[in-house]
Amino acid sequence: MNKRLVILGAGESGVGTAILGKAKGYDVFVSDYGEIKNSYKTVLNKQGLKWEENGHTTSQILNADVVMKSPGIPDTTPIVKELVANNIPVISEIEFASKYTDATLVAITGSNGKTTTTMLTGHILKQAGLQPGIAGNIGDSFAKMVSEQNLDTYVLEISSFQLDGVVDFAPHIAIILNVTPDHLDRYDNNFENYIASKFRIAANQKETDYLIYDADDPVTVDWLEKHPVKSQLLPFSLEKKFENGAFIEDNNLVIQIDNNTFKMATSNLTIKGKHNTKNAMAAATVANLLSIRKATIRESLEGFQGVEHRLEQVLKINNVQYINDSKATNVNATFYALDSMTAPTVWIVGGVDKGNDYRDLYPLINEKVKAIICLGVDNTKLMSHFGNMVDVIVETPSMSEAVKIAYKIAERDDKVLLSPACASFDLFENYEDRGRQFKNAVRDL
Ligand code: ADP
Repeated sequence: MNKRLVILGAGESGVGTAILGKAKGYDVFVSDYGEIKNSYKTVLNKQGLKWEENGHTTSQILNADVVMKSPGIPDTTPIVKELVANNIPVISEIEFASKYTDATLVAITGSNGKTTTTMLTGHILKQAGLQPGIAGNIGDSFAKMVSEQNLDTYVLEISSFQLDGVVDFAPHIAIILNVTPDHLDRYDNNFENYIASKFRIAANQKETDYLIYDADDPVTVDWLEKHPVKSQLLPFSLEKKFENGAFIEDNNLVIQIDNNTFKMATSNLTIKGKHNTKNAMAAATVANLLSIRKATIRESLEGFQGVEHRLEQVLKINNVQYINDSKATNVNATFYALDSMTAPTVWIVGGVDKGNDYRDLYPLINEKVKAIICLGVDNTKLMSHFGNMVDVIVETPSMSEAVKIAYKIAERDDKVLLSPACASFDLFENYEDRGRQFKNAVRDL
């Protein structure tokens, strides 16, 4: 009899896993507690897959040999608890899909910078003439790609939720960009649990594999000291130098691996800010490990325009640059956004506060911010934190209003930065909607 694969959650990763599971001969059943998007229903029906929505039929689920849980479903959900109590393995999509490919896997995680680094790495590999599958949290699911194509290399953006469901997943090259508190509600409000989750990316790596990490991040360094990994370590840093790793020397980005040296001027990187230099270091380290020509790596880093909603340069009006960093949904991302500002800045901030500690931002606000526009339903916390730090602080629940106010305040050569440090769902559908509304409002000025 065919093994039974039950999939909880019919989103991109769930539907992709269903397609792959069917192709590999499983008896597949898809169950979603909510409503399934019509586009996914069409795919499931086309494939002749069995599915249910608006609830879980326990008897159809507890007979599974293996369950793939979508990353959005917490472990505390009753059905997941029941599965665990019945000793039924609950895994993630990357765990399932990686069993069915021999491709070289590059897996990228971190609290911030995953999408940027994944896209940049993919861009370099494409410029080198490779055909990498770029998947994970981006675009098509990894599982779907594995079922439909036979690719040599995958670059995967991987969240901690995906890593929670990992048993044997072993990427040849792993990147941990940084670890700062985020999503702690899913980790019993315990930062250690969240760090442990990120490091599962390296748990099954062997001596011939690589782990690329930020040697300036105390959380990462401390964890690695206490929990050594088998893979070869390739650190990157803006402060230190290494025999093997990526570093800065005389304003050059240098990567050294086994006496092989790659070099380029940091000023030639198109994506700006210290955080992006680090993202570039990580991506270029991967490219060097995969023996891509140095000239190609350099040209790719000089040509990469960044990703929408991440410090995206929108327009210059009256010599004021408007910047969309709507994807900054936590304090750390906003820290790097403010840090990269090279002129007095009118800062638009706010939304749904995830228990933010704003103190890290104080020095940057004092140094760079001339006015603050609080954009949220409830701005009390922002007003009380920042009220005394700048001359001008206003609040509004409207994006077009916020942009008009910014336009009035900003003077020649200033910058207007949307970098909310908060989630978006009080006023917007998601961060993309927030970013788009910002750009439209700027264009309408
Ligand atoms: P993720 O996919 O991890 O959410 P993104 O590349 O989408 O990361 O970037 C999210 C936000 O974090 C953006 O505001 C971006 O400017 C900022 N950011 C990008 N890279 C880093 C980094 N290495 N450290 C801190 N913040 C970063």
